[in-house]
Amino acid sequence: MSLQDSTGQLEEIIGYCESLYEDVDLQCVQRWKAAQPGRRALGFMPVYVARELIYAGGVLPVGLMGGGDQVEIIKGDAYYQSYICHIPRSTIEMALSQRLDCLDGLLCPSVCDVIRNFSGMWKLLFPDRLCRYVDLPQNFNPSIGGAYYRREMDLLMADLEALTGRRPTDEGVNRSIELYDRNRTLVEQLYRLRSDQPWLVPTIESYLLLRAGNVVPVEEHNQLLEGYLELAPRRTFRVMDNIRVLLVGSFCEQPPLGLIRTLEKAGCYIVDDDFVLVSRWLTRGIGAGADPVQRVCNAYLNASTFHSSKYEGNQPKRDLLLQRVAQVKADGVVFCAPSFCDPALLDQPIYMSTLDNGGIAYTAFKYAENTGQFQNIREQLGTFSDSIKLWSVQAAKEMH
Ligand code: SF4
Repeated sequence: MSLQDSTGQLEEIIGYCESLYEDVDLQCVQRWKAAQPGRRALGFMPVYVARELIYAGGVLPVGLMGGGDQVEIIKGDAYYQSYICHIPRSTIEMALSQRLDCLDGLLCPSVCDVIRNFSGMWKLLFPDRLCRYVDLPQNFNPSIGGAYYRREMDLLMADLEALTGRRPTDEGVNRSIELYDRNRTLVEQLYRLRSDQPWLVPTIESYLLLRAGNVVPVEEHNQLLEGYLELAPRRTFRVMDNIRVLLVGSFCEQPPLGLIRTLEKAGCYIVDDDFVLVSRWLTRGIGAGADPVQRVCNAYLNASTFHSSKYEGNQPKRDLLLQRVAQVKADGVVFCAPSFCDPALLDQPIYMSTLDNGGIAYTAFKYAENTGQFQNIREQLGTFSDSIKLWSVQAAKEMH
C-alpha cells in the first residue's frame, strides 16, 4: 500500500470517528438497534462500568460524556445550581430534547455527588426507564468490598435480564470479556505508540478513536483501532521540538475538541492522559473462565487504575502519579480539569506538592465542555513548554 493510500485510509478512520463524536442525537445507536429487532442500549456516565456484562446481555453500552460545545443549554440549567460542572446540564438537556430516547436505561457509577444527584434527577424525569446508581466499592478486600460489588453486579445482571427477557449466559459473558480484553490491548498499543512516537499519533486522533468506542459495538471499535495501528506507523510526520506532558484531570466532563487541538499546537506532545478512562480503567485483561461475573469483579478489585474517585488504600496516588511520569518520560504535568470538578480538583494540591518535591514542572488550568476561547490556554502552555526547554538547556549547561 502506498503512503498516499494509507494516509487516505487514516483520514477515513478519523473522519468516521469525528462523525460519531458529532452525532449528539445518537443516530448510530438508533441504527444499531434498528438493524435487529429486540436490541437494547444502556447509557452510562463516566468513569467506569463493567461493559463486558452489559454487552454479554446483547445490550449496547453507550458512554455518555455530555454535549460538548455542540448542545445549546436551554432547559438543562434550570435543573442545577450554577456552581457545579457542566456535564449534568448538557446531559439533561440531551435527554429533555429526546436525543437520548434510544437509550433503554442509564447507569450512573459512583464518581461524585453530582453524578449521584444526576441519577436522582433522571429517575424523577423518566420514572419508567431503568436507572441504576452503580455503587463501586471503596473497600478492596474481597470478603468486604468484593462481596458487596458482586451483589451490585448481580443486580446489574438482573437489570439486563429484565431489559432483554434473558439472563446473560456464562458463555456470553466470556465471549464479551474476550472482545473487551482485545479492546484493552489495542487501546494500550495505541497509547504506547503515542508515548514512544508522539508525532505519529496526534492526541486529537487518539481521543476521537477512544470516543468512538463509547457508541459503536466493541467488535467495530476493535477494527477501527486495528486499522489505525496498522497505518499510523507508516506516517512520515516531522518530529517537532515539543515537550512531553502527562495530562491529568479530564476523566469525566471532556474538553472541547478545539482545546485538545490547542494543547498540541502550544508545543506539547501529550504522552499520556485520562480521557475516556473506561477503556483503560482495568490495567490488565480479565480473561475468560469459570464464573465470569466473579472474574469481572476480581478485575475491578485487583486491576483498577489509580483515580480521583477511588480510595487509594495502601497505594498513595501521589506515588502512582510519579511512577506514571517516569514511565512515559514526561517533562511535565498539565492539570487540565473541568471547573467545579471536586474529584479532580481536590487531588491537585496533593499532586502538586509531590511534583514540587520531585522537581517536576507542572501547570494547571480549568475548562468547561463548551469553553470557546483557547488563546489564554495556548499562551499559558506555550510559556510552560518554552520554560521547560529553556530550563533543560540551562540545566544541561550547568552539568558541564
Ligand atoms: S466533571 Fe467532576 S464533578 Fe462533574 S460529574 Fe464529572 S466527576 Fe463529578
